[in-house]
Amino acid sequence: MHRAVASMTVFCTCALHPGIPAQAAQHAGHGGSDLLMAVPSTPTGGDPFLVRFTADTPSTFTVMFAGGCFPLFARNIETAPVYETYLASSVPARGGFTLAVRDERTGTTVARLRMRIRPRVPVVKHMSAVYVKTRKRRPANSEQNRMLTKALRTRSSERLWTGPFVLPLDSVIVSSFGVQRIVAGGLSYYHNGVDLRGGLGTPVRAPNDGVVVLVGRNFNAHGNCLVLDHGQGITSCYLHQIHVREGDRVSREDTIATVGNTGWSTGAHLHYGVYVQGKATDPIAWSRLTGDTADGE
Ligand SMILES: [Zn+2]
Repeated sequence: MHRAVASMTVFCTCALHPGIPAQAAQHAGHGGSDLLMAVPSTPTGGDPFLVRFTADTPSTFTVMFAGGCFPLFARNIETAPVYETYLASSVPARGGFTLAVRDERTGTTVARLRMRIRPRVPVVKHMSAVYVKTRKRRPANSEQNRMLTKALRTRSSERLWTGPFVLPLDSVIVSSFGVQRIVAGGLSYYHNGVDLRGGLGTPVRAPNDGVVVLVGRNFNAHGNCLVLDHGQGITSCYLHQIHVREGDRVSREDTIATVGNTGWSTGAHLHYGVYVQGKATDPIAWSRLTGDTADGE
C-alpha cells in the first residue's frame, strides 16, 4: 500500500439530451456507422452492465440512462474510437429503458439503444426484533449518511481496476444483495450489498485495486465503514473494522479490514457492497464480468 496521488473528478456536462424525437433512428449522425451496445443486453435489476460505443471519429461522449448523465471513457483509442462505461439500474427497475449517447463537442445525440431490464427475483426478509431494537438505539445520522453517499458517488477519471473482482472473504453469503428487508411498521429497504459470514478479526482483502476515499468511525447505522474508489464511477464499501487510512492506495488482495460487528450489525460479518455511478449493484456480479475490453491489460 502507498499514499495515492489526488485523482481528478469527471463531471458530466449535459443536463439533458433534449430535442430527440421518440422515433429517432437507433444510430444518428456520423454517417450512421456508430455502434452502441449493452453487455449483457438484458441485465437484471441491480446488476451492472457495460455500455460500449464505437464512434467514427474521436470526441467527448456522454450517455443518458434512467434520468442520469454519465461520461464515456476512451478505450483502445489508438486502434479504434471505442468508449465505455459501466451503469446499473435500481433493484426494483424492470421493463424498457433508452440509452442515448451525446457528442459533447457538437451537442448532438449520435446513438440510441432501447434495452430491457430483467426483473430481479423478489426475496423478502422480516428483520429480527434484535435488529429493530439496535436501529432504535442508534438512530441514523444524516451527516454520516451524507458522507457515505458522497464517497460512494466518487467519479474519478483514472480506471484503477482490471478484470473480475475477487471476493474479499472466502466464506458463504448469509444475506444476498437485493433482498427486500421489512423492518417494522411498513418500513422496508433493499439490502445494498452481500453479508459474508466470518469470525471476528478474519482478514478482509481488497477485491481490486483502488484508493481509500472514506474511513468512517463508529457511524450510527454503518459502524466502522470503509469506501474504496476503483475509478470511473466504480466504488466499494466494507463494514465493520478498518485497517487502512484515507488516501491509501491498495492493490487487489491487500488486507484492508477485518470482520467486525458495529453499527446496526447484530453479529460478526462482512457487509460488502459495490456501487456504479452511486448505484448499489450485486457485488457477486463483479466476480463474473465478461466483455470488458480492459480485461487482461
Ligand atoms: Zn449487509
